[in-house]
Amino acid sequence: MALPKRRHSSARGRRRRTHWKIAKTSLSTCPQCKQPKLPHQVCKICGYYAGKQVIEVKAKEKKKKK
Ligand SMILES: [Zn+2]
Repeated sequence: MALPKRRHSSARGRRRRTHWKIAKTSLSTCPQCKQPKLPHQVCKICGYYAGKQVIEVKAKEKKKKK
């Protein structure tokens, strides 16, 4: 099996790894409550998807409004 002739310096390895980044989560806006939500997923705040109530949301909203 082929082996590397020289070891890469720690700086070289680190320079290569500067491009390892976590992609930002893409967010879309909920047309119902105008809050940011994950695209193609039910809105966690109001429970709506495609203009319909799909899931029931627990009564956490009241606390947020205060
Ligand atoms: Zn919503």
